[in-house]
Amino acid sequence: MAVSVDSTGRNGRRTDAEPPHQLNPGDEKLVFESSEAVTVVLEALNLREDLLRGIYAYNFEKPSAIQQRAIIPIMRGRDVIAQAQSGTGKTATFAISALQSIDLNVRETQVLVLSPTRELAVQIQTVVLALGDYMNVSCHACIGGTSVGEDIRKLEAGQQVVSGTPGRVFDMIRRRNLRTKDIKMLILDESDELLNKGFKDQIYDIYRYLPPATQVVIVSATLPHDVLEMTTKFMTDPIRILVKRDELTLEGIKQFFVAVEKEDWKFDTLCDLYDTLTITQAVIFCNTRRKVDWLTEKMREANFTVSSMHGEMVQKERDAIMAEFRGGQSRVLITTDVWARGIDVQQVSLVINYDLPSSRENYLHRIGRSGRFGRKGVAINFVTIEDVRILRDIEQYYSTQIDEMPMNITDLA
Ligand code: ADP
Ligand code: MG
Repeated sequence: MAVSVDSTGRNGRRTDAEPPHQLNPGDEKLVFESSEAVTVVLEALNLREDLLRGIYAYNFEKPSAIQQRAIIPIMRGRDVIAQAQSGTGKTATFAISALQSIDLNVRETQVLVLSPTRELAVQIQTVVLALGDYMNVSCHACIGGTSVGEDIRKLEAGQQVVSGTPGRVFDMIRRRNLRTKDIKMLILDESDELLNKGFKDQIYDIYRYLPPATQVVIVSATLPHDVLEMTTKFMTDPIRILVKRDELTLEGIKQFFVAVEKEDWKFDTLCDLYDTLTITQAVIFCNTRRKVDWLTEKMREANFTVSSMHGEMVQKERDAIMAEFRGGQSRVLITTDVWARGIDVQQVSLVINYDLPSSRENYLHRIGRSGRFGRKGVAINFVTIEDVRILRDIEQYYSTQIDEMPMNITDLA
């Protein structure tokens, strides 16, 4: 698959998505492929020693295509638009670059990462702290649904990296608890979502408080035209690493549909699939919180074990459900688009769209919860007669193929 790097006019070949290592359920980390290969490429990046140690300890294989392309320009201080398929390691791309750029002698906030959901902000904090494990770097997750007092205390102590959601971050900036004078890098993960209607004004509010020279890095698997056009307003001569629309779906994620005709038939179809779901881990998407509650209830009444999560639950409950699912204690999660983007649970191999998503972008993000970093995944779409049109549109838009689900689906998951 080709990736266009259009600021240089070069066309490179993708080199990531090598065959994944076999993982047993419960394995958390990847096996080292070849430490020499990593050394060569990582050495070429000229990273600081303490950061390199953190990367090795994290058991990374050789850098993926996006890591090879984007880390250097970000480290050099350029504004960067970094697009790459789901699960190809965009987090480490910006985390490594950010960590390399931090002045450890300065305790103040130097890097601000924003993401659309609390769980994603926390996940990014975890990656930053893991990669920066030998740097003694401070990184705080500044998210809604947590104690404001605690946030203030943590920020008072000085946090070199802040990974947060827009609402709480803006709140902390406005109250001057999050001091912005030393911020030199703003990273927007899932940037197209953050620049969508719902978040755009909040992002702009935050942006206005940052020093004028702040470097801006935007990241996503999907970057529709209107978002790319908007970037001229807040980015300076950015390096653009883009993926063509017809190269966005991953070979490793097989996509199917089940024709259910009527909404009423979806439930029985899901019950029939339950055994397949639990082979590894599965995520089931509905379009509303109420539907998630309803389906969860109905599955439990039919004696199936499921967990569920959505944005109306209190944060403590959301945290507990995430912990259980990440730990593999729960295997089937029913959720909304709160889970569509960014969340990385390597054992997820099956995604079900109980309802088709309302945007083409979130279709790609949802199915991308499986097939992380070259692993195999399966996506199954339940389509009623009215949905057929939407599915065909998605298929065409990404030049991909969504076949009818075969009988032997168990072999695929
Ligand atoms: P994206 O943001 O592109 O969807 P993530 O950053 O969440 O993807 O990374 C997906 C998974 O790949 C994570 O579990 C991450 O630890 C793993 N990963 C990232 N880079 C590497 C690498 N170089 N070698 C091995 N695994 C990697
Ligand atoms: Mg990501």
